[in-house]
Amino acid sequence: MDTILVVNAGSSSLKFEVFSIEGGLHKRLKGQMEGVGTAPHLRVKDGAGAVIADHVFEPGDVADLPAAMRHVGAWLVERHEGRLVAVGHRVVHGGPDYTAPVLIDEKVIADLERYVPLAPLHQPNNLAPIRAILERRPDLPQVACFDTSFHRGHSAVADHYAIPEHFFAEGVRRYGFHGLSYEYVAGRLPEIAPEVAGGRVIVAHLGSGASLCALSAGRSVESTLGFTALDGLPMGTRCGQIDPGVILYLLDQKGMTAHEVQDLLYKDSGLKGLSGVSNDVRALLESTEPSAAFALDHFVYRIGLNAGMLAAALGGLDAFVFTAGIGENSPDMRARISDGLRWFGAALDAQANARGDLLISTPESVVRLYVVPTDEELMIARHTLAISGH
Ligand code: AMP
Repeated sequence: MDTILVVNAGSSSLKFEVFSIEGGLHKRLKGQMEGVGTAPHLRVKDGAGAVIADHVFEPGDVADLPAAMRHVGAWLVERHEGRLVAVGHRVVHGGPDYTAPVLIDEKVIADLERYVPLAPLHQPNNLAPIRAILERRPDLPQVACFDTSFHRGHSAVADHYAIPEHFFAEGVRRYGFHGLSYEYVAGRLPEIAPEVAGGRVIVAHLGSGASLCALSAGRSVESTLGFTALDGLPMGTRCGQIDPGVILYLLDQKGMTAHEVQDLLYKDSGLKGLSGVSNDVRALLESTEPSAAFALDHFVYRIGLNAGMLAAALGGLDAFVFTAGIGENSPDMRARISDGLRWFGAALDAQANARGDLLISTPESVVRLYVVPTDEELMIARHTLAISGH
């Protein structure tokens, strides 16, 4: 059985999936090494969702991502019966030039290193497993799939900040992220919602990271995320859109270092910072703390505001699609967000929403509302299969 490994490396976790490729892509394994460097824990499920591995490691044994990749690699060699023919990686930043997935070689790695300053918390983690695999298995084709590529068709007007032009040439521009998720959803629409696939659609990727993407006939024309994954909507721990004057205040008046500001905005803001309770929407929905309800109100409000902005970019709206952890699993949050879209003519069907149907708006609704589960790993597997030539 020939297989493809998909690797999604975060700051303290390494997620992976294995797909067999004969007769189409089939998910065989889904695993994750969590708590890298602190409390490493490897869990793997088979294609049917049964847990087939559950190991706890000493922190020193899995101190960093290359070590996590070695452990996952050793586990796969020992336990996985397939023959690995290619590896696909999620890479957050492809800069202005990588408009599509690419077969990795030394030049590509050197190029992607250049984008580390643009995504300092993500890019080094994405590149570490690529290097670890290249060292041990230089023969194995590896493919980089970028979160930015799907947005590379944006107009220059959309991609610019109003600062002197030479910054744009240096790469200070709006990129947009969550592109693999949006590409997957955009690819599903012609099958499951042909009546809107060719029209004006906002897709809301609402997970621990959150953004909106404006699709015109299936192509991204605008995103709420910009130069980094901090912009737009408030997220689990990230601030979302913020007046740059606040950053200047923190640096100048509060004497914070750039590093402290970075940690504040990436790790201690968003729902976590506002609520003081949790970054997890489930915990906030269950909490009786007024600050938890306030954080959710703010999140819903900002989604409504940003939806208005993206509808302006599209010149109107035909459909709004919910996806990712919150969008796929929380009827309560979908109802609140849909309420903010009523002025567009969106009317939620409460029963369909409670059931989590594909179409959750009423027949009279001017804007159709959908729930479409995303699958970034499958998208990466597809690209990897196509590019590696298997
Ligand atoms: P993701 O990053 O797409 O895996 O989404 C993770 C987030 O989805 C979590 O932080 C939760 O806030 C949220 N989530 C998952 N399941 C539910 C649920 N049943 N109700 C509300 N939020 C959920």
